[in-house]
Amino acid sequence: VSEPAAGALLWPGARWFDDWFAVEGIDAQTVAIAEPRDYQYPVSYLLLGTDRALLFDSGTGRRDIRPVVASLASLPVTVAFSHSHYDHLGNHTRFDRFAAFDHPELRARVRRGIFRPSLVQHLKLRRPCFPIHEWWAAGEEVNLGGRTLTVIPVPGHAPESIALLDRDRGQLFLGDFLYSAELYVIDVDRYLRSLQTLRDLTTGTETLFGAHGFPRVPYRQLGALAELLEGVRAGRVSAPFGLGGFLLGPQRRIQVGDLDVRLFYGGRLALILPLFIGTALIAAIAAVTAVLASPLIGALVGLVLLTVGLVAYERF
Ligand SMILES: [Zn+2]
Repeated sequence: VSEPAAGALLWPGARWFDDWFAVEGIDAQTVAIAEPRDYQYPVSYLLLGTDRALLFDSGTGRRDIRPVVASLASLPVTVAFSHSHYDHLGNHTRFDRFAAFDHPELRARVRRGIFRPSLVQHLKLRRPCFPIHEWWAAGEEVNLGGRTLTVIPVPGHAPESIALLDRDRGQLFLGDFLYSAELYVIDVDRYLRSLQTLRDLTTGTETLFGAHGFPRVPYRQLGALAELLEGVRAGRVSAPFGLGGFLLGPQRRIQVGDLDVRLFYGGRLALILPLFIGTALIAAIAAVTAVLASPLIGALVGLVLLTVGLVAYERF
């Protein structure tokens, strides 16, 4: 195990657990677990009660998160996800007790007692499968023993997105709804309604924690994001069109103050558009090769490109 580079990747208060994970004890029963060396800088949260521990999001899965969790909790662990994008479920199948938000789109993904996220929700072809032992209703008070978390639906980034509010500690865990890096706004209207819900249910004194980048987000960002999205909807804020890298669908990018927001055309499907565009492109190249050379060479070229494309898609 090589020694991690100097603290450039860490936020104040964090320390390396090993050469992959970084942790911060936010309080005696709340720990942020980050993967600073992954380009998405994912952050999962371990929330401890007296009866059990809750791991809210399980990271990329590029490294087994269990040793980190085991070093912090001897309680039974329940794993939940803020939404079902791949970078929040990466370690799920390494655990054995699961909770999920009781959303119809998630319920519909259960076959013979086993949940498997859809491609559109997960954004990866290879998807984890696991049973759901607890379905959390909107507004449900999840009891960890001496600690209660309120489940708040916050659609906008994904339809099934939830936030968890710990009223006693003044902590709000937001998943990908709001964090201190580039935000992916899939549905502006839902985002605005969710922002209002969050502001109605909080006092303004809470500490906000996001699922990417340095964990803490200033509370005022809830208002700032609402203002920005309202401005976009009303045409007051200009949002230039862009492609934003070859792997993402058509989008608009807006940067105001600390906020860096990408708005997607075509909603959720836009996120897997690269997969469709890539497949169509490969089919076209294979067809042209088949006509110009021979059907066999065309098929071979198609097969090779498809393999390379799928490997690239899975690695992204
Ligand atoms: Zn996400």
